[in-house]
Amino acid sequence: MPEKSYEYANLIIDISHEKVDRPFQYRIPDKLKGVVDVGSCVKIPFGKGNSMRKGYVVELMNEPQCAPEKIKEIIDMAEDELSPDQIMVKLSAWMHKYYGSTMISALRTVLPVRKKVGTLTHRYIRLFQDERQARDFYHNCVKKHQVARARLLEALLENPDERIPYELATGKLNVTAATIKSLSDQGIIKIDSEDYYRNPVGDVKKHDKTITLSSEQQQISDRVIADFDNGIRDTYLIHGITGSGKTEVYIDMIHKMVSRGKQAIVLIPEIALTYQTLMRFYRHFGERVSVMNSTLSAGEKYDQARRAREGDIDIIIGPRSALFTPFPDLGLIIIDEEHESSYKSETMPKYHARETAIQLAKFVPGGASVVLGSATPSLESYYRAQNGTYKLFELNSRLTGGTLPDVEIADLRDELRSGNRSIFSRILQEKLQDALDNGHQAMLFINRRGLAGFISCRSCGYVFKCPHCDVSLSEHRGGTLICHYCGYTQPVSRICPECGSKYVTAFRAGTQQIEKEVNKMFPKARVLRMDADTTKAKGSYEKILSAFASEEADVLVGTQMIVKGHDFPNVTLVGILAADMSLYAADYRAAERTFQLLTQAAGRAGRGKFPGSVVIQSYQPDNYSIVSASKQDYKAFYEEEISYRKLLRYPPAAHMMAIQIMAKDENYGKQLAARLRAEIEFLKIEDMIIIGPAQAAIGKINDIYRMVIYLKHEDLEALVKAKEAVDSLLDYFDKNKKLNGIMVQFDFDPMQGF
Ligand code: ADP
Ligand code: ZN
Ligand code: ZN
Repeated sequence: MPEKSYEYANLIIDISHEKVDRPFQYRIPDKLKGVVDVGSCVKIPFGKGNSMRKGYVVELMNEPQCAPEKIKEIIDMAEDELSPDQIMVKLSAWMHKYYGSTMISALRTVLPVRKKVGTLTHRYIRLFQDERQARDFYHNCVKKHQVARARLLEALLENPDERIPYELATGKLNVTAATIKSLSDQGIIKIDSEDYYRNPVGDVKKHDKTITLSSEQQQISDRVIADFDNGIRDTYLIHGITGSGKTEVYIDMIHKMVSRGKQAIVLIPEIALTYQTLMRFYRHFGERVSVMNSTLSAGEKYDQARRAREGDIDIIIGPRSALFTPFPDLGLIIIDEEHESSYKSETMPKYHARETAIQLAKFVPGGASVVLGSATPSLESYYRAQNGTYKLFELNSRLTGGTLPDVEIADLRDELRSGNRSIFSRILQEKLQDALDNGHQAMLFINRRGLAGFISCRSCGYVFKCPHCDVSLSEHRGGTLICHYCGYTQPVSRICPECGSKYVTAFRAGTQQIEKEVNKMFPKARVLRMDADTTKAKGSYEKILSAFASEEADVLVGTQMIVKGHDFPNVTLVGILAADMSLYAADYRAAERTFQLLTQAAGRAGRGKFPGSVVIQSYQPDNYSIVSASKQDYKAFYEEEISYRKLLRYPPAAHMMAIQIMAKDENYGKQLAARLRAEIEFLKIEDMIIIGPAQAAIGKINDIYRMVIYLKHEDLEALVKAKEAVDSLLDYFDKNKKLNGIMVQFDFDPMQGF
């Protein structure tokens, strides 16, 4: 309910999505004053013939935007039956309120754009010979080292009766069109074309081979479904290591929901949207499942939404935006790897898919259940599971076989003391040699690109920085220094501009240096590198992974990208080169992120039949996040971390809001920031903690100065109140032309420092 009553409402009509940009103004009749609110659905006369249409309120105001006598009047509320689209509009109003964006950008986030879908042709590849002949041909290719051909045939032979999409072959499998054509000309494979649109993965035969769930797995599914049948709508957290059978539990629950006439949304991080994962769902649900991802065109996305609305599908899988699929009878939302930071949007509205999913579950008629799953739950979720807000389930054993790897921590301070100046500790060198001698593979992982490779003067400490951004420049091959924020480049100088010393060097190893070092120490090893530089081109990420999977390289060097998703059975060694780099990041989630990364990275070793080992190199070997990750002990980590969060009142012990101020004129920005702080203090909200305004972690990007104010309070509503006060002050400044181009953004419970 709006607090004040307004004269006029700006509406978007019907949700003809092209018009989301153009609100129309209507007068609010007396009987609806104080009833009509942002997000309300109302009946209105529209166009020359005054035909009855529905409109959604995006803004309330007291000033007419044209001659008052020309403004038509709202007829009535239209909220008797909530259509799926109306629920989405309601959800966007909630996002607008809690995440601080305009209603229009919230609407754009939840409503897919209507675009004409042309006739689409999908091509598929299938075997054109019987399985035995194909297998002979495959072995022949292997013998002749025709790796691309072998890769394609291997994929086809995995399920000889099924087709694979053409794009999968040219993309993930990295097989050229010429190779496919030649195999087709030889009659080994056949290419089918279909000129109608089904789903982005193509046709898959359903099969009913069902796994019998273990009793732990069955209990979870039964409990969620029994609750649902008893009218209880809850949020559940499954804490279970990778391979403990969470996905099978999801599938079981979805089957039961679908048999009750309900639909399900499955959110997974974009990076985990692998062909294997999708196939598992397709085999179970066939045509009734569809996938949403960022590579779909606007038309395809719109078509998915239409199919959901019309009851053509029961299940959608995708990254956070799949949450906004307009199902008529949503019963279940699953969020796998719920701790992933990609569930938080980094653009306005900066919503978190978990919080938004829980809200959506409340809005749908009859309510929906929410199931979260993770091997390393976010502190938020585990905290809520501990205090009973969520129901907690644990799955403790790995069903994939393989044992947990041996983990050793190498103290880098000791290495230096005993004269080892290499970036590899002695134990890592030994194990790397071992792995290579035995024909196994290794992964070497470094925490972050930006921190590596910066250039400083060893005599006076001068660091080369970007003149436009307050960050250090990184050295790249070919003798240039690059700013990772704005792209500024300058040639490397070997002389310190400050003291003239010639002792100017790269400070720490990045992925390129590690690659070089491996090449130098182990000249026979074949090395692949995966980082932001090598994965810029479309499909290159998949290419590197599939090349490593088919053992075209012995060592994979990379950033955090390599620790996710894929299973490499032949990897026996994982080296984490500078485990503590992410601990230096200036934000309160640094330890949590470090723990998650290390646990995930360690979990990459020993997934096949050979036991694995992990070496964690660190300057802070006693840090709790490193010690507990080395033991794969989530609870030990949680206990330490939560006590620290409680002490400092960080989320989840309290809520936090970052007010981010961006200004061209530094002084004016400072003035305005101080004014914002005063406005919040003026509210006299009890127990509100206000920190700042202070310079942001990166004080300047692209010559824009950045400041931040942090607010902390146990009650989210208190922060929303502060935000609204800031909003109306900014509104006032804007109307009086005093904002001078200053931008202010809000971020609730931020995932990243600013
Ligand atoms: P998670 O999602 O926790 O990583 P999955 O559900 O993918 O785990 O299960 C890991 C592997 O174990 C999969 O290959 C899956 O088919 C298998 N699996 C899961 N549950 C069972 C079960 N009850 N019996 C046999 N195999 C199972
Ligand atoms: Zn110097
Ligand atoms: Zn820059």
